[in-house]
Amino acid sequence: MRRGPVLIWLLAPALLLAAPVRPGSVPLSAQVTAIRAGQLVDPEAGTVARDVVILVEGGRFGAIGPNIAIPSGAEVIDLPTLTVLPGLVDAHNHLALTYKEEPESNVYYLTYVLESTPLRAIQAASNGIQMLASGFTIVRDMGNNGNYADTALRLAIEQGWLPGPTIINSGIIIGGMGGQFWPTPEMARDKGIVYPEYLDADTPDEIVKAVRQNALFGAKVIKICVDCKPWGYSVEEIRLFIAEAAKAGLKVEGHVQTVSGAARAIEAGIWSIAHDSGLTPEMHERMAEKGIFRAGTETPITLVGHTSPQRYERTVARLRDAFERGVPLTFSTDADYYVPGMTRGEVSIEFIETWKAAGIPNADILRAMTTNGYRVSETQDTRGPIRTGFAADLIAVAGNPLDDIDALRDVRFVMKDGLVFKRDGVMTPGAFFHGGPVNGWNIR
Ligand SMILES: [Zn+2]
Repeated sequence: MRRGPVLIWLLAPALLLAAPVRPGSVPLSAQVTAIRAGQLVDPEAGTVARDVVILVEGGRFGAIGPNIAIPSGAEVIDLPTLTVLPGLVDAHNHLALTYKEEPESNVYYLTYVLESTPLRAIQAASNGIQMLASGFTIVRDMGNNGNYADTALRLAIEQGWLPGPTIINSGIIIGGMGGQFWPTPEMARDKGIVYPEYLDADTPDEIVKAVRQNALFGAKVIKICVDCKPWGYSVEEIRLFIAEAAKAGLKVEGHVQTVSGAARAIEAGIWSIAHDSGLTPEMHERMAEKGIFRAGTETPITLVGHTSPQRYERTVARLRDAFERGVPLTFSTDADYYVPGMTRGEVSIEFIETWKAAGIPNADILRAMTTNGYRVSETQDTRGPIRTGFAADLIAVAGNPLDDIDALRDVRFVMKDGLVFKRDGVMTPGAFFHGGPVNGWNIR
């Protein structure tokens, strides 16, 4: 049994060298694409350059500038009337969870009983494509994804099976016994019903083990329930999460819903805080001091049934307060439900309504959706900015989002890893589909 694989490994370099190139075709790495952008936005600087040429080769950006010579034989993509900008980031989504009115009355406790992990994984593939079509080239997928459907989706996209955003996934959310559920004793103790939606970790040993399990099964960030139960995690326990995750090179995001939970998470020095209900002005001050990312998941009033007027008012006021106090803001949606007539991407982009209502300037909304998104995802040195040597992800819209942030609602063009996913407003993802792992095989 061992001989075969060993032989293949030994032969691998020779096989690669002998890889056939179709007659008349050019190896992918040698193909050059030149994008002629009418306008190019730099979200970090909040500036626009005109008539810029962007070269793309081997899935990465090459030379970028106004007077770049286009190599002969390059494929030229003309976008003279569009505004090109880096891809968007949703810092908190749940691609393998879609609860809905029928049959579960939007109660996700039922969704995970009714829908298998394989079904949810296929839904995640679809949701990922829908996100990419709306310009989200990076999605932090923050748990409630069945039995590591999020890792499977990330690997499938990375290996080249199908198109999708770059996924930064959390694996299973770690919490005290029960996670976010309040199960019956028999279902919790006898049936273990909380798994795989949550990993129970109530002691230091269990915390270490849970972090290691997620790292082993492909998590790229650790997500914990800071205060899903009244007792929650202490500052020391959160620090243990952070220290153990750091050994695997991972950061920790906390689901926080109370002020005391926020205070503990901030004191412990957590990487990012999800949800805004515990984030008072005092907490915002401390977050700004420590540079803790805010993934507030600000549901807009326009998504009827998913917030209330009172809650929305508080959400808007808190977002405004966080902005004024200089908290690092990320664009985050917590999207995990079906809104009839809307794609997952359209549901996510709808959240700009809350940011507009909070009076955040367009340039700062765009920074939250790009620059800060790359930072919280830890891709800022490899992927996100349109910069030579970086992964070639970009989008284009008809208007200029610095003038009108609603321009982001109509993404006309999407490039991911140098491949065109959407052109003239129509998805053309054929180049992404492969019958095997063309980008290489990886298990983590
Ligand atoms: Zn969430």
